[in-house]
Amino acid sequence: MSSCRFCGSVLRSTFVDLGTTPLANNFLKAAQLNQMEPFYPLHAYVCDLCFLVQLNEVVSPEAIFTDYPYFSSYSETWLQHASAYADMVIERFRLGAGRRVIEIASNDGYLLQYFVAKGISVLGIEPAANVASAAVKRGIPTVVKFFGEQTARELVAEGIGADLLVGNNVLAHVPRLNDFVSGMKILLKSNGVITMEFPHLMRLMDENQFDTIYHEHFSYFSFITVEKIFAAHGLTIFDVEELPTHGGSLRVYVRHAGDTAKTVADRVTELREREDRAGFTHLKQYLSFGERVTENKRRILDFLIRAKQDGKTIAGYGAPAKGNTLLNYCGIRSDFIDYTVDRSPHKQGYFTPGTHIPIYGPEKVKETRPDYLFILPWNLKEEVMEQMSYIRDWGGKFVVPIPNVEVL
Ligand SMILES: [Zn+2]
Repeated sequence: MSSCRFCGSVLRSTFVDLGTTPLANNFLKAAQLNQMEPFYPLHAYVCDLCFLVQLNEVVSPEAIFTDYPYFSSYSETWLQHASAYADMVIERFRLGAGRRVIEIASNDGYLLQYFVAKGISVLGIEPAANVASAAVKRGIPTVVKFFGEQTARELVAEGIGADLLVGNNVLAHVPRLNDFVSGMKILLKSNGVITMEFPHLMRLMDENQFDTIYHEHFSYFSFITVEKIFAAHGLTIFDVEELPTHGGSLRVYVRHAGDTAKTVADRVTELREREDRAGFTHLKQYLSFGERVTENKRRILDFLIRAKQDGKTIAGYGAPAKGNTLLNYCGIRSDFIDYTVDRSPHKQGYFTPGTHIPIYGPEKVKETRPDYLFILPWNLKEEVMEQMSYIRDWGGKFVVPIPNVEVL
């Protein structure tokens, strides 16, 4: 038995067991289809003591993140989100020349470019060398490293500290959670601010987003639990926003516990109380999730079986990591979905891990005119439906699988 990555208690309680799947970003080339493919248990636990929902570390982060095919700049919605965030935070915390913004997991520089444009010093920290080099090419200084206490100490020794320390969609990816948060405490200047965005467990559960569980996401956070984790490292959450991104995320604003000039907003108390009322401080709340996931699987398969029995053709849209949890857990292969399309040239020509569905560029949809387009990145459905609206010309319809199968 393994133990909680935050508090160390033995993990006894299952949150949801999604069987075994390959790593969600291990897309295959044609030549690999006849080779053995590693599958790993995808079993989420909830800690009985601190209620952190988490996966065991069955795969090392080095194996997952050192050659990472996700380039943030290929999503327009995400770029708009990043640009709006930069404008907001520059104004709110009066960032200007002489201040420094550091982003952990800075990807291809999609966010830091907006600070550079305003003349603010930036530094990216990104473990995947291939995406980091894309950032460097566009003029974003980036160190290729995993973040933790050691990296933070090295930077501080070079005289580097953060006025604003940003971590978007990275907290879930961190196996050594205490080392990571402790590193943030070290790198943050005495009056600096950390903002972090991560998917909100309450939304994951309310909206049945089981497909956001995959091996790269080691932890799944409620506000109550994340507040405890920061507090254990001398950091205080002084504001929180609920965002629509990634199916519902939290953006927390964090300061040193001693930096009391920044008062704690009412939104912090309000969200803590709302989660408490919803049951997030009782194990029972977490144990109810598995059965709802199974029920959703049955509904998705029911839709696909009926569509095929009616002679319909189904193509996928997107090849996101979450799609691979859904496809593998439900057992959906090219017997249901002929192919999928993705705008990222880094995925075209590949096959989905485990389920071996071929990935093409979006123009394939125009050539084959499928009856249904099954949207795997359901969180981007508005963007996808706008881009692909021409499927209506031949009577094509959109399908989203989460929170419930729905034809649009
Ligand atoms: Zn725990």
